[in-house]
Amino acid sequence: MSRLLLDGWHVVLGIETHAQIKSRQKLFSSASTSLLTHPANTTFNAVDAAFPGTLLKLNPKCLLLALRASLALNCDIQRRSSFDRKHYFYSDLPSGYQITQHYAPIATNGFLTLPTLGRKVRIKQIQMEQDTAKSIFDPRTRTSLIDLNRAGTGLLEIVTEPDLQSADEAAEYVRALQATLRAVGASDGNMDTGSMRCDVNVSIHRPGEPFGTRCEIKNLNSVKFMIAAINCEIVRQKALLMSSCNVPQETRGFDHHRWDTYKLRSKEDAPEYRYMPDPNLGILHVSEAQIQQVKDNLPALPDALRKHLIDTYEPFGVTQIDIDVLMGLDTGRNIGYDGEDNISLDETTRQDTDVSAVTYFETVCADKNRDPKNVINWILHSLHGQLSALDKAFNSKHIPPRQLGELIDLVASNSVTRPSGKLLLRHMLTDPSITPETSVRRLAVKLNLISMSSSSEDDLQSVCMRAVEALPDEVAALRAGHHNVVNKIVGWVMKETRGRADAKTVRETVIDLVKS
Ligand code: ADP
Ligand code: MG
Repeated sequence: MSRLLLDGWHVVLGIETHAQIKSRQKLFSSASTSLLTHPANTTFNAVDAAFPGTLLKLNPKCLLLALRASLALNCDIQRRSSFDRKHYFYSDLPSGYQITQHYAPIATNGFLTLPTLGRKVRIKQIQMEQDTAKSIFDPRTRTSLIDLNRAGTGLLEIVTEPDLQSADEAAEYVRALQATLRAVGASDGNMDTGSMRCDVNVSIHRPGEPFGTRCEIKNLNSVKFMIAAINCEIVRQKALLMSSCNVPQETRGFDHHRWDTYKLRSKEDAPEYRYMPDPNLGILHVSEAQIQQVKDNLPALPDALRKHLIDTYEPFGVTQIDIDVLMGLDTGRNIGYDGEDNISLDETTRQDTDVSAVTYFETVCADKNRDPKNVINWILHSLHGQLSALDKAFNSKHIPPRQLGELIDLVASNSVTRPSGKLLLRHMLTDPSITPETSVRRLAVKLNLISMSSSSEDDLQSVCMRAVEALPDEVAALRAGHHNVVNKIVGWVMKETRGRADAKTVRETVIDLVKS
């Protein structure tokens, strides 16, 4: 594999990601997983608080989601895996150990393809483990408060081989991983809410030489910080190596105020975790039939979806950028898989459940064979644009596909002008009295937005005549050969008709009137 060169150095990166499993229950206890909105210490039970005598039981839902993620990442599922205790003492760990899969992880040997580069990043392994509680330090009282809500929530730790070569590639990997985990409902993958966190290992070396010593930057909670941390770390390591110093193997953090990495601990200080198999949890067996069943029910993955969209719609003028933007509308939303065993997107419920932007687009196109380029423009520019202006994220429930389709048809048939169409859209987004059953045509009639050309030619003629009377100076200027002035007269008509008139027709009518 040829490597990218940066100022004569090769960069080597490997990423360890922790993604919260999107299950209603925790990994080994029946307590509910928490949302950030839950008050502290309300979603835990005796197991999570590590009371003596409590026993753990693997939540099958977490296993199912781990299997889905593993298959989506092309891993080999281990028919036998097991759980180990990783010991350390910290206030956010009630039992004094975290249960993980150190010796025999659930899945190994996979890969994820970077969508734009088309290169494979090897996944070394995926393991299930417990999340910790949260400790919150109060500097005023100098006390640490513990919130057990997160304790025992299931995590997937996803470890890559050192296959990434730049901060940008690392960012692309993380985004592709998010998209994949979301597609199969395994995790929300939101870095800003902490449901996904990354540790990045960074080293640099001269071409032809062995890999350099790596430093691990812990707990990066946004792609932006990850890119910054990697680049800062490359600069730091380069400076060390150029002045003939070694890079000591360290665990580092990223300080987003100073915008630089700092040392947390050296390799010598690395804790001894005394891993040992958990005696209460047996061997986890997964049968070939179980694996096959999960495989058979795996939804379309982002890679395949992107390819399908390009193959289907590029011939109609839809660009790859359009498709990436469309797929991007789903980022951060929880659609399609609700984390339950069955897919929530069957045909019968399609109209009333929230569907992905991609499904929305395909539904609007398919029903009545609409022009895909026109439909995607409406969704990406008009609908998404207006939603952004209203500070709302895309959601298929805002305007059902049928109504957007009706609006698109009204404009395509010139019954409503494009500016009126946008006005209509705004009403549809903001008027609470409009229901999914409302007819868009009737709404356009009610709001007096049916275009004048399609209602009555005479109307338009008379408004243009009023314009000519109202603007004598402009008419004179136009007669004297100042052609640009016509825009002002057209503008007057458009304002008067509230955009219902077709600008081109108005222009022709005005010129005819002035000439005669
Ligand atoms: P450990 O057992 O210490 O956790 P691993 O072998 O699991 O180490 O590797 C941890 C991460 O570091 C992996 O993501 C791996 O790809 C990455 N990594 C390993 N060697 C290097 C290196 N020389 N430079 C950058 N990253 C590396
Ligand atoms: Mg490791």
